[in-house]
Amino acid sequence: MYGNYTCERCKRAIGFRGICLACREELKKEEILAWSEEKIQEKLQEVIQNIKQLSDWGSKTYDAACHLIDLRGVISEKMQRAALEAEVFELPKVYYHAPEDVRDGLIGCLMNTTDAQEASWLMQCLAMQGDDKALEALYELECHPKEWREKLYVDPSVYAQAGGWTFDKKGKRRTLNYDTCYPIIKADNKGNSPIKVARIRKEHCPHCGGRMMDMLVVDARDKRLQFLGVDGVITATCCPSCVLYEEGGFSRFTLDGESEALPLEIGGIGEEASEEMYREMEENSLVLGEEPVPLFYETQSDYSCTIGGFASWVQDWKYLTCPDCGKPMRYLAQLHWSQIDDSEGTLYIEICPECQVAGMLHQQT
Ligand SMILES: [Zn+2]
Ligand SMILES: [Zn+2]
Ligand SMILES: [Zn+2]
Repeated sequence: MYGNYTCERCKRAIGFRGICLACREELKKEEILAWSEEKIQEKLQEVIQNIKQLSDWGSKTYDAACHLIDLRGVISEKMQRAALEAEVFELPKVYYHAPEDVRDGLIGCLMNTTDAQEASWLMQCLAMQGDDKALEALYELECHPKEWREKLYVDPSVYAQAGGWTFDKKGKRRTLNYDTCYPIIKADNKGNSPIKVARIRKEHCPHCGGRMMDMLVVDARDKRLQFLGVDGVITATCCPSCVLYEEGGFSRFTLDGESEALPLEIGGIGEEASEEMYREMEENSLVLGEEPVPLFYETQSDYSCTIGGFASWVQDWKYLTCPDCGKPMRYLAQLHWSQIDDSEGTLYIEICPECQVAGMLHQQT
């Protein structure tokens, strides 16, 4: 429970004197965003010199690498070659779009390993590298599994999803992420932002009786959002209470802004919130940021909402299956509940652009 203190920066109730965790993260982020080019090179050098420590989650090197990649979009080939040479595979995004020699090194390690855990990391690294040769290698392992496959829960085509793509039974690629990312930020004045978060709908949830909400409305005709390739409005509708208990909630949208939730699998477990609570959610001040940010923006701490790029999965990555066509959906956006109703966890929003279906998925620690 909250204590008797208020955060000295944002004034929210906290259990200790000082500033809240969210504010601390934000201050740290501001500092990193202000790093000079010289400072960036210095950090990069540090990471390369201590590259072995990348396998140590929570080490200074691991943190520095994440700051460079997530907040500054800095991934150098030198870092990728050093990581491969040291056989460090526990931070797969280091290998994002790595050059061919690094890719071939990863494939070599993957084909030779007999260790399931190492194979699991290597598949994620290759997924991040993501070119056609990487696809070929994962497809080969899907068709002709090695012994370690039995020890893993999912197929190589699901590991490929970690890099934002996958392939079908015939080895044909399907892209699951967008290669541009924009932040969804708090603003004093919502103006006419092409993005709206948590809009109350008229109808009530058939399962719990609470209000349905358009959790995300995206007018993709805005020039910042052209990368989505959608000529109209995307709306993701669900019951904000019931969605917490589902493996995924779905809604169907039309490009002119209509939307309708599909019935839930389980349903009815969520608790109806008070009208006041719904209003508070709707009164969030989230808008689309003006400038794009790196693709892995803020994947370490959990407070930035984004559209496009990569999700910061609280648990394992998960691409819902489109209820219409049966294909994996594309990742669209992440909304942190802390930014909407002060609760925990993240709502991931995915879409099947072909079928005009939105999927919503909640994860928390
Ligand atoms: Zn605060
Ligand atoms: Zn409900
Ligand atoms: Zn579909």
